[in-house]
Amino acid sequence: MLEGKTGVVFGVANNHSLAWSITKALDSAGAGLAISCQGERFINKIQKLTAEHLKNKPLLLACDVQDEQQIARLYEQIDAAFGRLDFLVHSIAFASREDLEGTFLQTSRDGFRLAMEISVYSLLAVTRLAIPLMREGGSIITLTYLGSRRFMPHYNVMGVAKAALESAVRYLAGELGPQGIRVNALSAGPVNTLSARGIRDFSSFLHTAAAKAPLQRNISGEEVGDATLFLCSDLSRGITGEIIYVDAGFHITGT
Ligand code: NAP
Repeated sequence: MLEGKTGVVFGVANNHSLAWSITKALDSAGAGLAISCQGERFINKIQKLTAEHLKNKPLLLACDVQDEQQIARLYEQIDAAFGRLDFLVHSIAFASREDLEGTFLQTSRDGFRLAMEISVYSLLAVTRLAIPLMREGGSIITLTYLGSRRFMPHYNVMGVAKAALESAVRYLAGELGPQGIRVNALSAGPVNTLSARGIRDFSSFLHTAAAKAPLQRNISGEEVGDATLFLCSDLSRGITGEIIYVDAGFHITGT
């Protein structure tokens, strides 16, 4: 489905990351990939993973999305290697531990700013420099969670950040549509990853979702990977500005 297409995936921290499941799905569909992780120190670990599990050798890059120069350098390297981009996957979020452990009311000013910068503004920052490489249109996908719309105990500032992220998806989709660039979000059900474990009582998210979701189970990273593959491919060419739920149907329930 993605033979001849190239893209970049941001947010692979380890083999539990949703970005890793996404990378595997896109690789198996034949895409040429650049994979970005936050720091050089992760590159060796990711290199081992990619050598063991991917069909095609990806371009591995380090990029802290808080640093405009690192983002610019990343796109220079992608331009040199591929000369174009067809899709971008943004699978990045962060909030400080104190702000996830305390109450939402007590969120610090700095903590609020940091969560919004890394979890929301970074989508704009990485999209802006990708656009010149998306000469034949493109697909941009970010990852969100239902805590954007509902009160989820302990999700705190991250819920507010996800609400802003979903709004950013609509604004970007509106602005970039005329260039043939689609922007969508996947709203994933809870999956046990490094970031997820930073949320207090995360296991109750898993238990509640499995108990209440119409499909009566949790979702897997592979299901998020497959939905991302759909959004990167031409099969989804008529879809933009959308929040698509990969949550076994949990979002339609009353609780
Ligand atoms: P994850 O593996 O911890 O991925 C989060 C990624 O964000 C990590 O690679 C992390 O890098 C990166 N990141 C944080 N700050 C960064 C920065 N300044 N620059 C560059 N990268 C940075 O956890 P995940 O669950 O797969 O999360 C991926 C996305 O899915 C997030 O947007 C999350 O909110 C969303 N999501 C997750 C779930 C879930 O239940 N897991 C459900 C719905 C949505 P480091 O590890 O190096 O800091």
